[in-house]
Amino acid sequence: MSLQLQVEASLKPFNSFGVDVRARLFAQAHNDDDVREALRYSAEHQLPLLVIGGGSNLLLTGDVQALVLRMASRGLRVLVDDGERVVVEAEAGEVWHDFVLWTLAQGFAGLENLSLIPGTVGAAPMQNIGAYGVEIKDVFAGLTALDRQSGELRDFTLAECDFGYRDSLFKQHPGRWLILRVRFALSRAASLHLEYGPVRQRLIEQGVDLPSASDVSRAISSIRSEKLPDPAVLGNAGSFFKNPVVSSVLAAELKLAYPNLIGYPQADGQVKLAAGWLIEAAGWKGFRDADAGVHRLQSLVLVNYGAATGLQLLALAQRIQADIAQRFAVQLEMEPNVY
Ligand code: FAD
Ligand code: NAP
Repeated sequence: MSLQLQVEASLKPFNSFGVDVRARLFAQAHNDDDVREALRYSAEHQLPLLVIGGGSNLLLTGDVQALVLRMASRGLRVLVDDGERVVVEAEAGEVWHDFVLWTLAQGFAGLENLSLIPGTVGAAPMQNIGAYGVEIKDVFAGLTALDRQSGELRDFTLAECDFGYRDSLFKQHPGRWLILRVRFALSRAASLHLEYGPVRQRLIEQGVDLPSASDVSRAISSIRSEKLPDPAVLGNAGSFFKNPVVSSVLAAELKLAYPNLIGYPQADGQVKLAAGWLIEAAGWKGFRDADAGVHRLQSLVLVNYGAATGLQLLALAQRIQADIAQRFAVQLEMEPNVY
């Protein structure tokens, strides 16, 4: 057996909240064989298998009675290159931001707005990661996953992934598909997305008139570094709630009552509200209960000041949900995967 199993392993270094829980068994998968071996072990010992990447979208509420398999497979390759359009493929265990930087270094544009998102390539399709007006579905060219029920490999096209706002087929069927590698359609001719939030302004501040994709990546990385707590310093899982999409009628009622409400009309007529605005308006920004808190600059981000348990963080999230529902008649949905 080449898979190295660790018994009662601490998961503290493997979740960005820094929650101190243990896995009954822990192993790292460096290739497809390791993955298959872990699946076999899990079936033979009737022990559930929990696959993780960087642990940056997890809330662990207690010790995990499972074999926790961390994807650590590496490999980057160019599959197609016609001089303008390229298709690249990355193994699931590649660190997302390192992969983005690698594509930019090759002169391939498309992923720059998704710079500095923590985690791995394999987890990126799970919630169709998005930032600054781009989601991976916009540059997605396919993925290969292992069907954990049948043990067969399957290639997925864009249409088959059912990507939505922070959502996908894979998120809808937890534990069914193990993503092994992902493909992206990128381009040497950059068609940049600069209209979102402070991106253009930051480029001007940085003295960039005609930005390249790498300039956009640097601008977005600098904005993110200022706004978001670094999990290595202060445990967090990024945005804890999705931005709620509500009916135009409710949005109009709320706008009357709260003229500063932030909302973005959607193509289907509904309105996406900024969850961070609702939480801040309800007075939660900077709130702290023991070591579980709401970040003092970013009310969408729950933080662990050191010794918070997953259950304490979950309780805080539930208090916020109940308060927002009562004040605004809006149900906030948690974004991280809770185990
Ligand atoms: P994990 O947290 O390890 O896992 C997430 C889920 O995916 C789990 O359910 C896990 O079981 C499953 N999973 C992991 N790998 C695989 C695999 N190979 N096959 C099948 N299932 C798998 N998200 C955004 O969308 N946009 C942002 O801008 C953003 N900013 C963030 C900023 C900060 C500071 C932090 C801490 C988080 C942020 N996130 C953001 C959330 C997070 O970075 C992403 O969701 C990321 O894709 C999670 O990757 P991961 O490898 O850490 O996944
Ligand atoms: P922000 O720029 O302060 O904006 C607040 C919210 O308004 C965002 O959540 C965003 O929704 C929405 N928004 C802003 N401009 C918009 C536009 N032009 N069109 C449509 N919606 C708009 O947000 P932020 O917190 O600093 O984050 C910046 C970006 O990084 C956002 O895209 C955010 O999703 C992403 N991010 C995600 C996480 C995570 O964990 N999921 C963590 C940090 C940052 P959207 O979120 O739908 O874009």
